[in-house]
Amino acid sequence: MKIIEESRIEIIHQLPEREAVRYALFDFDGTLSLIREGWQAIMIPMMIEILMQTPDHEDKETITAIVRDFVTRLTGKQTIFQMIQLAEEVKKRRGNAEDPLTYKDEYHERLLKRIQYRLDGLRSQHIHPEDFLVPGAISILEGLQSHGVKCYLASGTDEKYVLDEAELLHLTPYFTGIYGAQDDYVNFSKKMVIQRIITENHLSGPEFVAFGDGFVEIEDTKSVNGIAIGVATNEADREGIDEWKRSRLIQAGADLIIPDFRVTESLLQILFPAK
Ligand SMILES: [Mg+2]
Repeated sequence: MKIIEESRIEIIHQLPEREAVRYALFDFDGTLSLIREGWQAIMIPMMIEILMQTPDHEDKETITAIVRDFVTRLTGKQTIFQMIQLAEEVKKRRGNAEDPLTYKDEYHERLLKRIQYRLDGLRSQHIHPEDFLVPGAISILEGLQSHGVKCYLASGTDEKYVLDEAELLHLTPYFTGIYGAQDDYVNFSKKMVIQRIITENHLSGPEFVAFGDGFVEIEDTKSVNGIAIGVATNEADREGIDEWKRSRLIQAGADLIIPDFRVTESLLQILFPAK
């Protein structure tokens, strides 16, 4: 493991020999957007609350560890999968599980209470988009563009919200395609988006790079032999590394770990070495 001191890029695996990177995929929440910062602090307590009401629940500490673990493992997938797991956990403890969609609506309502002022502020232009972007987000998108890389966005958040929030952050023009979760959740996954990009453009794995702060996009990228960059931003402070994210991203197979996109210049040198 080697850390490039000045740039704070952590190299977990040396990047494979490759032709130039040509396509990039970005996760949205936590990777580019901070609009939904703090969602875990809404989802996890809600799930703990529900599980603590089941007849066969363990002590709160055990439940907390279980919830935290499956929420993290499923981060990057559509939200509904976290709710499907919740319903399973309720059943395991002899509770009456709701429809996962009901849990998802409840969660979203609670989350909106936390983030509504951000959406309103961005819409009325009282808040500057930069305040809710991961630092340096625009610089990496412009940098990739200048190298001729086509960028896609794929999120586990419902597509209508992703389109709206990307627009509020002025990100839309940077992307060739923007994808989010569909009601028909079986027919959408990040893996499908990745596979389509690879097949349609006849890419060898390392011509494809993905940026994400979730387990799922890193794992999916490594499964097609792409370059996976873990974005371990401390979302609340916007400075430094979130150690919990970092260790999960490494576990998922990330090749590089970055704190945010203030490292764009060095990152581009790694991705596009001078021949
Ligand atoms: Mg994310």
